[in-house]
Amino acid sequence: MDRFSGGTGQNDVVTIDYLIIGGGLAGVAAAESLRAVGARGSVAILSGEIDPPHDRPPLSKEFLRDERSREQVLLRPVEFYQAHKIGLVLGRPALALKPDSQEVMLADGETVGYQRLLLATGGRPRALGVPGESMSGIYQLRTLAEAERLKEAAGASTSVVVIGAGFIGLEVAASLAERGLSVTVLNQDDQVWPASRRRRSRPPSRPISRRAGSPFDTTSGWWPSRARTVWSC
Ligand SMILES: Cc1cc2nc3c(=O)[nH]c(=O)nc-3n(C[C@H](O)[C@H](O)[C@H](O)COP(=O)(O)OP(=O)(O)OC[C@H]3O[C@@H](n4cnc5c(N)ncnc54)[C@H](O)[C@@H]3O)c2cc1C
Repeated sequence: MDRFSGGTGQNDVVTIDYLIIGGGLAGVAAAESLRAVGARGSVAILSGEIDPPHDRPPLSKEFLRDERSREQVLLRPVEFYQAHKIGLVLGRPALALKPDSQEVMLADGETVGYQRLLLATGGRPRALGVPGESMSGIYQLRTLAEAERLKEAAGASTSVVVIGAGFIGLEVAASLAERGLSVTVLNQDDQVWPASRRRRSRPPSRPISRRAGSPFDTTSGWWPSRARTVWSC
């Protein structure tokens, strides 16, 4: 499904009974739960991503290490949505909400109406906000498409710089070190994953270490002007 259909629309605008914006775990769980509790009427998930809803945790771990395939990181097989009459509209970001008329405007100009709306739009990586961050060779990691680009680039690289020694940054660093890349982690704090430690989280299952050939640079504010490839997580 790439356009809306099956609602009870008036004029040209299709109305969905339960419209969910966000194709992440929250959006899929909400759609599945609606059907599980017997919700009648149309249910649709609208996602800005081109790929079907997928699990993000493996993207920095098993998927990056080639231990899980693309199909194995999908939250549900694509047939699931059809079987449960859940519309899946991919690659179509919502641009604006009109609560008065209960409508959502999509970036491509289509308008869709809703009876009930759930915003499950999740999070996104924080940009560095420095000159040059949109240059080629610089990646961020949130989606399956970004993980695939990262893997492809990793296959053609021998060294990598990871900016951010939080949980995801360190997982990516450990996975890439396991792939044989020489990894440097840059962090603006003087500790690794300090925010997680404050929350008493457990360290990544395969923590990166100097033994894995992955030095840390924890110098505050250091910008890797000589680094050829910079990875931002
Ligand atoms: C690499 C990585 C590793 C992780 N590892 C772990 C882990 O080990 N353990 C753990 O607990 N958590 C982990 N997380 C975090 C976990 O994945 C998130 O907590 C979870 O994805 C949140 O789900 P969500 O559905 O709320 O949001 P998201 O997964 O962020 O989904 C939001 C969805 O909304 C869509 N969206 C946003 N804006 C719009 C718009 N305007 N129009 C249409 N669609 C829109 C997005 O495209 C996306 O599909 C990891 C995250 C990443 C990126």
